[in-house]
Amino acid sequence: AEAVVLEKPVAAVKKSTVKITNPDRMIFPESGQTKGQLAAYYQAVAEIMLPWAGNRPISLVRCPQGRGKKCFFQKHDAGVFGESVKQIAITEKDGHQEPYIFVDSADGLLTCVQMGTIEFHGWGARIEDIEKADRLVFDLDPDEGLNFKDVISAAFHVRDLLAEMGLATFPMVTGGKGVHIIAPLTPQAEWPAVKDFAHRFASALAQSQPDRFTAALAKAKRTGRIFVDYLRNQRGSTAVMPYSARSRPNAPVAAPIIWEELRKLDGAARWHIEDAAELIERSRSKNLAGWGRANQTLPDL
Ligand code: ATP
Ligand code: MN
Ligand code: MN
Repeated sequence: AEAVVLEKPVAAVKKSTVKITNPDRMIFPESGQTKGQLAAYYQAVAEIMLPWAGNRPISLVRCPQGRGKKCFFQKHDAGVFGESVKQIAITEKDGHQEPYIFVDSADGLLTCVQMGTIEFHGWGARIEDIEKADRLVFDLDPDEGLNFKDVISAAFHVRDLLAEMGLATFPMVTGGKGVHIIAPLTPQAEWPAVKDFAHRFASALAQSQPDRFTAALAKAKRTGRIFVDYLRNQRGSTAVMPYSARSRPNAPVAAPIIWEELRKLDGAARWHIEDAAELIERSRSKNLAGWGRANQTLPDL
């Protein structure tokens, strides 16, 4: 397979000059972080966030009055964001086109924050070719009763199975309850094949270890188990982007980690919006520098 460059050079990210109004507005009432603090976080991490979150269709979780008040998931833009939040026309199932949004700059990210965005979610494809996946993601969703140790051992099991098929994977703690296991792909396979692979992988896993895993959507089937959410791998589905803040208490963020670190974590909300400097330093460390990058294609299953 031909080599692909999956990251833009970090130096290309210019600081945002977007004006943030009402910087004292309380966005995380339990822990006290404001809109200004959230904006400062995104300003700081833009350079490490954009290589993944940039140039792919995104959805936003907007909470203009703060988390806990009314929030909404936004996929489309009617043009109100201005020029730094870009549009890409995508054909829906019924054949008509809708304008989806993407960003490729700190100004783009910060404009979304100015408009009340807390979370950034992204498609598993780049705007260059939205029909071809550039990643598989297995979203491990533990049932309430489970502890994080169960999530960790489950994640390593998924890692090992995918490795046997030749796929290198990278873990990310979501800032919520679980872990996403990401296999970067050289964009080649189209959505039906990607979804089929993910579905069959999750079903086989649940069948081989029915006490630990389920691939069933029904909530009742999830009791005491980890739901392997394979549905992030279909056209139009999104997953939370690395370094996105989460609209949850204490302002946690989704954070890329290496496999060895996962063994020692107590939970998926280890980093918060105060930790921008640490996250940037981590991202430049030898361990994390290659996170999310591998030239590989969908195996047969
Ligand atoms: P956690 O670790 O707590 O599960 P998560 O980000 O994986 O965090 P999920 O509830 O498992 O949260 O959701 C998985 C993904 O589904 C999200 O990252 C998001 O991209 C997508 N999603 C969540 N809510 C919506 C929604 N209302 N509409 C569309 N997609 C959503
Ligand atoms: Mn999840
Ligand atoms: Mn899920």
